[in-house]
Amino acid sequence: MADAPSSPVARERFDALAGLAFPPTNRDSLPVRAPYDDSVVGDVPLSTPDDVRTAVEDARAAADEWASWPVEDRVAVIRRFHDALLDRRESILDVIQTETGKARVDALEEFLDAATAARYYGNHAKQVLTPTRRGGAIPLLTKTVEHHHPVGVVGIISPWNYPLSLSISEAIPALLAGNGVVIKPDEGTPFTPLWGLELLHECGLPEGVLQVVTGEGPTLGEPLVEAVDHVSFTGSTEVGRIVAEAAGRHLTECSLELGGKNALLVLDDADVEKAARGAVRGSFANAGQLCISIERIYVHESVADDFRDAFLRKARALALDAGYDYDHDVGSLLDGELLAKVEAHVEDAVEQGATVLTGGRARPNLGPYFYEPTVLTDVTPEMTLADEETFGPVVSLYEVESVSEAIERTNDSAYGLNASVWTKNEDRGEQVATRLEAGTVNVNDAYLAAWGSFDAPMGGMKNSGIGRRHGRRGMRKYTESQTVATQRVVSFSPPKRGKRLWAEAATVGVRLWKRISELGP
Ligand code: NAD
Repeated sequence: MADAPSSPVARERFDALAGLAFPPTNRDSLPVRAPYDDSVVGDVPLSTPDDVRTAVEDARAAADEWASWPVEDRVAVIRRFHDALLDRRESILDVIQTETGKARVDALEEFLDAATAARYYGNHAKQVLTPTRRGGAIPLLTKTVEHHHPVGVVGIISPWNYPLSLSISEAIPALLAGNGVVIKPDEGTPFTPLWGLELLHECGLPEGVLQVVTGEGPTLGEPLVEAVDHVSFTGSTEVGRIVAEAAGRHLTECSLELGGKNALLVLDDADVEKAARGAVRGSFANAGQLCISIERIYVHESVADDFRDAFLRKARALALDAGYDYDHDVGSLLDGELLAKVEAHVEDAVEQGATVLTGGRARPNLGPYFYEPTVLTDVTPEMTLADEETFGPVVSLYEVESVSEAIERTNDSAYGLNASVWTKNEDRGEQVATRLEAGTVNVNDAYLAAWGSFDAPMGGMKNSGIGRRHGRRGMRKYTESQTVATQRVVSFSPPKRGKRLWAEAATVGVRLWKRISELGP
């Protein structure tokens, strides 16, 4: 193996970040490794279920005061965070790259996501949280107002692949809504959310409101779900089911952002060069370890040869290597487990007749977990990777005879997270998009157009999730709605005498109301 670059972050810095984790009751610790060379870069506490319960109690106590702040003051903290984050770009990119092994351009994408979350929710929090006047039971005589209270404490269980986006970006709307937040980051990537916690404190977030509890998912997951008022889980569909079961048992509200087997459709009128460029980014961004990345491509037979040539040319030109600079396009996989899964998926496909058009092998000369961007064809339904998420840099190319076939095959999946449509005709692209069973669809882009449209919800249909992040919904889910209805003049109690007359009058009133409401808003 070539000498992999060592992390630019000093061990003492990681030790200082580890000191911000919720203080554990025991002395056990969890080593954190750099995927580039598998070296241990630091240790974090191995917390226990009791630690989780105490962290939630502490967050609840701190959030009492935090929720009483005027929303403008909470917004001011998040606005300061936005600016400070942008000022410290290179520092956070170093931390993210160290613990994920991703390319710097991929770390940049989630850094920009966190800034966008801070800006968007900073700008919209007041409007989303302001009590809203609603139509009353009897027009003019019932005054009805919907209030949005914080739920209390939000638990965030996050995966390793986007450790800043999926912990800190997710925490921002919950914090702005006045909640306490407890983050349980992935075992492999605790330093990024700890870095975010430190910066939020520096920007004025009171101590205790946000807690980061480090440790193992199977041990800490259920106690967290039990103790909090809403759990936001991002991760695999398999673990999502476990979290949902626990949430059901404890009647804890939950939102789940899960896996995908996302398709990209190249229509007969697509600009093939542009589609190929988008497909390369879509398939190999973050070395394919992105929930919304593309693992299936359906290309119309009339442009199939041109698209394949352009796609392979661009895929082969990607720079795969380790480096804490912007010189490389594709980084490492996270660990040996993921590498073994990617290898098993490709081997299984090849054994059953799939053809490797490019890639198809690990690159231990670059680092222990590097795998080449891989394009397969002749993939058939019996092969594991035909339906299962690989979560690596592997994409299957299929030729189709019509748009209807592409739509049908895209929808023939248990997942429904993201999709991409390429065409020169925007209207046509948008029409195809609405026929796809996916929570986000990008026309003439692979995934960033929808991901970056923060004002619109993002999430999965079918086995890809429950609930949505982003948009107003992404903040409202962290609130408890309360309806306050004040009745004036007329009472709803039937009179002691004359109930028949009362029934007639009520029926006439309801009939009249329908007529009036049909006249317009
Ligand atoms: P994972 O499900 O293995 O782990 C996610 C988190 O769950 C980690 O923090 C882990 O410690 C925790 N966990 C593990 N067992 C648990 C248990 N029994 N109870 C509670 N928590 C537990 O997922 P991963 O491998 O880290 O991430 C990859 C998966 O996440 C892929 O399937 C990917 O598609 C999905 N993902 C989805 C989105 C999305 O927005 N839809 C975003 C990123 C990743």
